[in-house]
Amino acid sequence: MNEPYNKSHISIGANQKLVKKSPHTPDLLNSLQSDLAKMELWRCHQCGQCTAVCPSGKHGGIMTREIMERAAEEALLLQEEESIWLCAMCNSCSERCQLGVDPAFVITLLRQAAASMGNCPRHFADEAKLFQTTGMSFPSTGMTRKLRKELGLPELCMSQKTVDEIRSIVRRTSMGRVDVE
Ligand code: SF4
Ligand code: SF4
Repeated sequence: MNEPYNKSHISIGANQKLVKKSPHTPDLLNSLQSDLAKMELWRCHQCGQCTAVCPSGKHGGIMTREIMERAAEEALLLQEEESIWLCAMCNSCSERCQLGVDPAFVITLLRQAAASMGNCPRHFADEAKLFQTTGMSFPSTGMTRKLRKELGLPELCMSQKTVDEIRSIVRRTSMGRVDVE
Protein backbone atom coordinates (compact mmCIF):
# COMPACT_ATOMS: atom_id res chain seq x y z
CA MET A 1 0.00 0.00 0.00
CA ASN A 2 1.27 3.50 -0.80
CA GLU A 3 2.28 5.80 2.04
CA PRO A 4 -0.41 8.39 2.79
CA TYR A 5 0.62 11.90 1.82
CA ASN A 6 0.36 14.93 3.99
CA LYS A 7 -0.65 18.06 2.16
CA SER A 8 0.42 20.26 5.04
CA HIS A 9 4.12 19.57 4.49
CA ILE A 10 4.42 18.78 0.78
CA SER A 11 3.62 21.13 -2.03
CA ILE A 12 4.61 21.92 -5.58
CA GLY A 13 4.56 25.65 -5.19
CA ALA A 14 4.63 26.88 -1.64
CA ASN A 15 7.61 25.03 -0.19
CA GLN A 16 10.44 27.55 0.22
CA LYS A 17 12.99 24.74 0.34
CA LEU A 18 12.17 23.96 -3.29
CA VAL A 19 12.72 27.56 -4.31
CA LYS A 20 16.19 27.61 -2.78
CA LYS A 21 17.20 24.25 -4.25
CA SER A 22 17.53 25.28 -7.87
CA PRO A 23 18.02 28.50 -9.84
CA HIS A 24 15.37 27.22 -12.25
CA THR A 25 12.81 26.62 -9.57
CA PRO A 26 10.76 29.87 -9.26
CA ASP A 27 10.21 30.11 -13.02
CA LEU A 28 9.85 26.39 -13.26
CA LEU A 29 7.15 26.21 -10.60
CA ASN A 30 5.23 29.08 -12.18
CA SER A 31 5.46 27.39 -15.54
CA LEU A 32 4.42 24.01 -14.09
CA GLN A 33 1.46 25.50 -12.26
CA SER A 34 0.38 27.29 -15.42
CA ASP A 35 0.72 24.07 -17.48
CA LEU A 36 -1.22 22.06 -14.89
CA ALA A 37 -3.95 24.71 -14.82
CA LYS A 38 -4.32 24.30 -18.60
CA MET A 39 -4.81 20.55 -18.10
CA GLU A 40 -8.00 21.33 -16.11
CA LEU A 41 -7.38 18.62 -13.56
CA TRP A 42 -10.57 19.62 -11.76
CA ARG A 43 -12.32 17.47 -14.37
CA CYS A 44 -10.84 14.32 -12.81
CA HIS A 45 -13.56 12.73 -10.67
CA GLN A 46 -11.25 10.07 -9.29
CA CYS A 47 -12.99 7.16 -10.99
CA GLY A 48 -9.74 5.17 -11.07
CA GLN A 49 -10.09 3.88 -14.64
CA CYS A 50 -6.61 5.17 -15.42
CA THR A 51 -5.24 3.09 -12.55
CA ALA A 52 -7.21 0.03 -13.72
CA VAL A 53 -5.47 -0.02 -17.11
CA CYS A 54 -2.00 0.98 -15.93
CA PRO A 55 0.55 -1.81 -16.46
CA SER A 56 2.93 -0.18 -14.00
CA GLY A 57 0.31 0.11 -11.25
CA LYS A 58 -0.61 -3.55 -11.67
CA HIS A 59 2.90 -4.42 -10.52
CA GLY A 60 3.17 -2.02 -7.61
CA GLY A 61 4.34 0.96 -9.68
CA ILE A 62 2.71 4.33 -10.21
CA MET A 63 -0.80 4.95 -8.83
CA THR A 64 -2.15 7.12 -11.63
CA ARG A 65 -5.40 8.23 -9.99
CA GLU A 66 -3.57 9.23 -6.84
CA ILE A 67 -0.96 11.20 -8.80
CA MET A 68 -3.78 13.08 -10.58
CA GLU A 69 -5.33 13.92 -7.22
CA ARG A 70 -2.05 15.08 -5.74
CA ALA A 71 -1.17 17.10 -8.86
CA ALA A 72 -4.57 18.82 -8.71
CA GLU A 73 -3.99 19.67 -5.06
CA GLU A 74 -0.32 20.63 -5.60
CA ALA A 75 0.55 18.02 -3.02
CA LEU A 76 3.75 16.60 -4.48
CA LEU A 77 7.32 17.09 -3.35
CA LEU A 78 8.83 16.94 -6.80
CA GLN A 79 12.49 16.73 -5.89
CA GLU A 80 11.78 13.52 -4.00
CA GLU A 81 8.79 11.96 -5.76
CA GLU A 82 9.85 8.56 -7.08
CA SER A 83 6.64 7.06 -8.41
CA ILE A 84 6.43 9.39 -11.44
CA TRP A 85 9.51 7.62 -12.78
CA LEU A 86 7.71 4.25 -12.69
CA CYS A 87 5.36 5.27 -15.52
CA ALA A 88 6.01 3.32 -18.72
CA MET A 89 4.61 6.16 -20.90
CA CYS A 90 2.28 3.70 -22.64
CA ASN A 91 -0.57 6.27 -22.76
CA SER A 92 -3.23 3.72 -21.79
CA CYS A 93 -4.49 5.98 -18.98
CA SER A 94 -5.02 8.92 -21.34
CA GLU A 95 -6.82 6.72 -23.86
CA ARG A 96 -9.09 5.32 -21.17
CA CYS A 97 -10.01 8.54 -19.34
CA GLN A 98 -13.56 9.41 -20.35
CA LEU A 99 -13.30 12.96 -19.06
CA GLY A 100 -10.47 13.98 -21.33
CA VAL A 101 -7.89 14.27 -18.57
CA ASP A 102 -4.50 13.33 -19.97
CA PRO A 103 -2.67 11.63 -17.08
CA ALA A 104 0.30 10.55 -19.22
CA PHE A 105 0.96 14.15 -20.24
CA VAL A 106 0.49 15.38 -16.68
CA ILE A 107 3.11 12.86 -15.57
CA THR A 108 5.39 14.10 -18.36
CA LEU A 109 5.07 17.66 -17.04
CA LEU A 110 5.80 16.48 -13.50
CA ARG A 111 8.85 14.57 -14.71
CA GLN A 112 10.21 17.58 -16.56
CA ALA A 113 9.91 19.73 -13.46
CA ALA A 114 11.29 17.01 -11.16
CA ALA A 115 14.28 16.42 -13.44
CA SER A 116 15.05 20.13 -13.43
CA MET A 117 15.16 19.96 -9.65
CA GLY A 118 17.68 17.13 -9.77
CA ASN A 119 15.17 14.32 -9.29
CA CYS A 120 15.98 12.17 -12.30
CA PRO A 121 16.96 8.50 -11.99
CA ARG A 122 20.48 7.81 -13.21
CA HIS A 123 19.38 5.54 -16.06
CA PHE A 124 17.12 8.27 -17.47
CA ALA A 125 19.95 10.81 -17.25
CA ASP A 126 22.29 8.33 -18.95
CA GLU A 127 19.73 7.86 -21.71
CA ALA A 128 19.42 11.63 -22.13
CA LYS A 129 23.20 11.96 -22.31
CA LEU A 130 23.45 9.22 -24.90
CA PHE A 131 20.72 10.88 -26.96
CA GLN A 132 22.49 14.23 -26.84
CA THR A 133 25.84 12.77 -27.82
CA THR A 134 24.84 10.14 -30.39
CA GLY A 135 21.28 10.97 -31.45
CA MET A 136 20.12 7.59 -30.13
CA SER A 137 18.55 6.83 -26.77
CA PHE A 138 19.98 3.32 -26.66
CA PRO A 139 23.34 2.05 -27.87
CA SER A 140 23.73 0.30 -31.18
CA THR A 141 25.02 -3.10 -30.08
CA GLY A 142 26.47 -6.00 -32.05
CA MET A 143 23.03 -7.64 -31.84
CA THR A 144 21.38 -4.50 -33.29
CA ARG A 145 23.82 -4.51 -36.20
CA LYS A 146 23.31 -8.26 -36.78
CA LEU A 147 19.50 -7.95 -36.78
CA ARG A 148 19.57 -4.93 -39.10
CA LYS A 149 21.83 -6.82 -41.49
CA GLU A 150 19.52 -9.82 -41.46
CA LEU A 151 16.56 -7.56 -42.18
CA GLY A 152 18.42 -5.88 -45.02
CA LEU A 153 18.49 -2.52 -43.22
CA PRO A 154 21.44 -0.11 -43.46
CA GLU A 155 23.75 0.40 -40.48
CA LEU A 156 22.56 2.98 -37.99
CA CYS A 157 24.89 5.93 -38.28
CA MET A 158 24.15 9.54 -37.34
CA SER A 159 26.15 12.20 -39.09
CA GLN A 160 27.86 14.88 -36.97
CA LYS A 161 25.49 17.45 -38.53
CA THR A 162 22.48 15.43 -37.31
CA VAL A 163 23.94 15.08 -33.82
CA ASP A 164 24.66 18.85 -33.70
CA GLU A 165 21.07 19.56 -34.72
CA ILE A 166 19.79 17.21 -32.01
CA ARG A 167 21.95 18.97 -29.41
CA SER A 168 20.64 22.32 -30.53
CA ILE A 169 17.02 21.12 -30.25
CA VAL A 170 17.68 19.55 -26.85
CA ARG A 171 19.17 22.79 -25.53
CA ARG A 172 15.91 24.56 -26.42
CA THR A 173 13.73 22.04 -24.59
CA SER A 174 13.21 21.00 -20.98
CA MET A 175 15.51 18.08 -21.63
CA GLY A 176 18.36 20.55 -21.88
CA ARG A 177 17.84 21.41 -18.21
CA VAL A 178 18.73 17.92 -17.07
CA ASP A 179 22.25 17.73 -15.73
CA VAL A 180 23.68 14.81 -17.63
CA GLU A 181 27.34 15.51 -16.90
S1 SF4 B 1 -7.70 10.88 -14.76
FE1 SF4 B 1 -9.62 10.25 -15.80
S2 SF4 B 1 -9.62 8.00 -15.59
FE2 SF4 B 1 -8.15 8.79 -14.08
S3 SF4 B 1 -9.29 9.00 -12.16
FE3 SF4 B 1 -9.36 10.98 -13.22
S4 SF4 B 1 -11.25 10.94 -14.42
FE4 SF4 B 1 -10.80 8.83 -13.86
S1 SF4 C 1 1.18 6.14 -19.34
FE1 SF4 C 1 2.12 5.63 -17.35
S2 SF4 C 1 0.54 6.08 -15.83
FE2 SF4 C 1 -0.47 5.94 -17.83
S3 SF4 C 1 -1.15 3.82 -17.99
FE3 SF4 C 1 0.86 3.93 -18.98
S4 SF4 C 1 2.33 3.42 -17.35
FE4 SF4 C 1 0.38 3.90 -16.35
